[in-house]
Amino acid sequence: MTPFSIALACSELTPFAKTGGLADVASGLSRELALNGHDVRVFVPYYPRIAKRLADEGRPPTVVPNAHDIELGFPDQNGRRAAFSLFETSLDPQLPPAQQPRVLLVDCPELFGGEDIYGGDADEWLRFATLSRAVLESCQRMGWAPDVVHCNDWHTAAIPLLLRTHYAWDKLFANTKTLLTIHNIGYQGVCGPDALAGFGWGQLSSVLDPNDLELGLLNLLKTGVLHASAVNTVSKTYAREIRETELGMGLQAALRQRADDLFGIVNGVDYGEWDPEHDPRIPFQYSAADLSGKARCKTDLLETFGLAPADEGPGEAALIGTVSRLTSQKGFELLTELLPELLERFNVRFVALGSGERDLERFFQGLHQRFPRKAAFYSGYNEDLAHRIEASSDLFLMPSRYEPCGLNQMYSLKYGTIPVVRATGGLADTVEPFDRRTGEGTGFLFEPFETRALTSTLLEALDVWSDPALRARCIQNGMALDWSWKRQVREYEALYQRLSE
Ligand code: ADP
Repeated sequence: MTPFSIALACSELTPFAKTGGLADVASGLSRELALNGHDVRVFVPYYPRIAKRLADEGRPPTVVPNAHDIELGFPDQNGRRAAFSLFETSLDPQLPPAQQPRVLLVDCPELFGGEDIYGGDADEWLRFATLSRAVLESCQRMGWAPDVVHCNDWHTAAIPLLLRTHYAWDKLFANTKTLLTIHNIGYQGVCGPDALAGFGWGQLSSVLDPNDLELGLLNLLKTGVLHASAVNTVSKTYAREIRETELGMGLQAALRQRADDLFGIVNGVDYGEWDPEHDPRIPFQYSAADLSGKARCKTDLLETFGLAPADEGPGEAALIGTVSRLTSQKGFELLTELLPELLERFNVRFVALGSGERDLERFFQGLHQRFPRKAAFYSGYNEDLAHRIEASSDLFLMPSRYEPCGLNQMYSLKYGTIPVVRATGGLADTVEPFDRRTGEGTGFLFEPFETRALTSTLLEALDVWSDPALRARCIQNGMALDWSWKRQVREYEALYQRLSE
């Protein structure tokens, strides 16, 4: 494959600045693309936390020549125009530069000098519209014409529009294509007349939806959907769901217009972090060939939480685990009736890790109080514990209302933990229903968002798990799968190739 030059524009990047999956995708994907020989430059705001990290590591970023104090076109309410300078660092100080992406830090303390990545203030559009412009201005200063500008979520979704308006004059971008990846359609960057004035009514009137203009609205994600050369989201099923159902959160019509250029690519997993053979966060490592370490991890976790050992009671008790943000998206309300009854009637154990909505936290806490020897809950964010729960559980629950991609089900597959998930979004694309007749499949899926559907699927999963031969088949099928970035990157390469033809 011919190497591409790719400008990846994002608001977060692991390990420097992360609030969610976008940061992991930006670093996992760009790393793999660079390894495959593409010229990848990742643009991210130079947040104070990045400066601090680089200072702590004793490697201050270098100055990019010709990219100092560049004044940008958007005036703020006081008519002041922000200026930025460009710095450069690397993702991983251990790796040679040729094997990794270049990380370009957009330094604009006026807009990105606060503690938080997202401010939620009225000038939020200005911060990220400035980042979007800074990406293009930086390309100009570097004299670099990317084949693809890969934009992510609403924060950088203005770039396709900017290329058609403010930067249309510049021949440097004559062959540049744009890809917009939607990680979370719930945030669209809807802004008002300030933003329209900032972008310039004159520039926009020919390219924006007249209805939005009349309302004085600028929906940055929607402009990206309409103007990018192609759009993708993080699984094929979710790409269909956001086009066809209310999961599109108002963008269904725009997405339908782009149906021929709308794709789904499941995120890759970082097996450097998530592999039971080499995971330092779990007490006993194990592999598909020898699962004894998994059983020991389970014993250890049950002990840590003061739960009854698995061999107490009739038969071997299955451990059901879950790790999640506790929000209504994740569908845990389906558990409120199911779990008390399950714990009452069956010899099972349950462990949940998560934080979020108070009602859900209260429910899990209440469960522990009622079944202190069978159910445990850790409220908070804890990476080590997330790894231990993945390794120790027999079944992993994800009853999501919607799930653009989902990562935990893929970790579960790798850790020999059978996923029990709702058939939506990325869950439907990565978990294959287990068929006890053929021995094929990797997990269990239910469709209607109803307690009854989840209950019968979970009981079926428990039944399969309690049969040693079926259990082994299901676990081995899952552990044999490869959802690494090494594999998933090929779909992005194919998409870049398609754009360049
Ligand atoms: P989402 O991005 O919607 O939260 P994903 O399944 O895509 O869901 O990714 C969630 C990631 O965050 C996973 O890596 C999961 O293990 C991790 N995670 C979620 N909650 C916690 C928590 N309380 N402690 C540790 N890790 C968590």
